[in-house]
Amino acid sequence: MSYDRVRAVDEDVADALTGERERQNDTLAMIASENHVSEAVLEAQGSELTNKYAEGYPGERYYGGCEYADDVEELAIERAKELWGAEHVNVQPHSGSSANMGVYFSVLEPGDKILSLDLTHGGHLSHGHSVNFAGKLYDVTHYEVDPETGRLDYEALARQAEEVEPDMIVSGFSAYPRTVDWEAIQEAADAVGAYHMADIAHITGLVAAGEHPSPVGVADFVTGSTHKTIRAGRGGIIMCDEEHADAVDTAVFPGAQGGPLMHNVAGKAVGFGEALDPEFKEYAAQVVTNAEVLGETLEEHGFSLVSGGTDTHLVLADLRESHPDVTGGEAEEALEEVGIVLNGNTVPGETRSAFNPSGIRAGTPALTTRGFEEAEMREVGDLIARVIDNLGDEEVYAEVAADVQELCDDHPLYE
Ligand SMILES: *Cc1c(COP(=O)(O)O)cnc(C)c1O
Repeated sequence: MSYDRVRAVDEDVADALTGERERQNDTLAMIASENHVSEAVLEAQGSELTNKYAEGYPGERYYGGCEYADDVEELAIERAKELWGAEHVNVQPHSGSSANMGVYFSVLEPGDKILSLDLTHGGHLSHGHSVNFAGKLYDVTHYEVDPETGRLDYEALARQAEEVEPDMIVSGFSAYPRTVDWEAIQEAADAVGAYHMADIAHITGLVAAGEHPSPVGVADFVTGSTHKTIRAGRGGIIMCDEEHADAVDTAVFPGAQGGPLMHNVAGKAVGFGEALDPEFKEYAAQVVTNAEVLGETLEEHGFSLVSGGTDTHLVLADLRESHPDVTGGEAEEALEEVGIVLNGNTVPGETRSAFNPSGIRAGTPALTTRGFEEAEMREVGDLIARVIDNLGDEEVYAEVAADVQELCDDHPLYE
């Protein structure tokens, strides 16, 4: 995209937009929740549908002129049903957090009890952190991963559910590298008569491709973001059985939102269509292989991985043993200097703080999109280790930055 038309009216914004495109081209995006959508998705998101009010749902809108908005939303819904096998799909949530809000509003009352994973153990703000609407509206208790194994302890969760008697158990995570046993969590919920919402924001694409077991048909509600491992542009999605369809739709609109972002719904339709192509399965499998290779490489360099490895698209390295003097924040900053963009992250049993955590989280979805395979991932792992082993050494940084640039040049992204 040239942004010529933006430039003609607004140089400043055009500079920022081209700057961002170049930044994405010339750096390695390893933030586990990020990806690069296709030019087709970008074009759909930039369409005239941004002008259209389409409050309501296909066939029952509160405005005229919705025939093409209906087409786009129906395509997005049908494709999502095919990808994830859900009975009912709502593609209107503006984001993953809004999708969670839609589910809470559909069956919970303010003051109801939610049991969710602690943020520092891999949970998400919208699962009821005290600064988030969910933490303010609901009575939230957190479960944790096992401090020894870094993995979910389903028996402990079931015991805690007996004690807390929550109205809803929330599963699905932001920094959990292992396969989740949705059935075990559903059993814990059923045993205490709680709803179960599985938030697959990070792993939507892995679930669609069969690279991670699906909670659809197991959990009462499944929510997700549409811009992470599924490359359908920024937004959210809710899936549930027919039983909860009306409650969810009403909770999203008019409960939580006004007009849907139809241009983003168009992006979802295009991105979901792309994910139905058999090539997407290969992509998702490569995402997981790449994370495994990255994890093994970091371990060879002495890094310690939370849970000892990964089954998914991300690795979480706890720096406290391998690099006791380096915080996750310092590692993040140093890596950004050389063009490797990831984030410092809290680790289970965090002894520092959320602002200055002890770990780093690295994901492979975006690098896999630009064609990275095992050999490139090994190189990336070597480069990450080199920077963290030589913190502050500008000579090393310059060498690594040159290698990063070469990797980027060999795997071009946007023209
Ligand atoms: C990313 C994420 C979300 C939603 O994020 P948005 O930025 O609102 O799309 C929700 N839950 C989990 C577990 C996430 O990782």
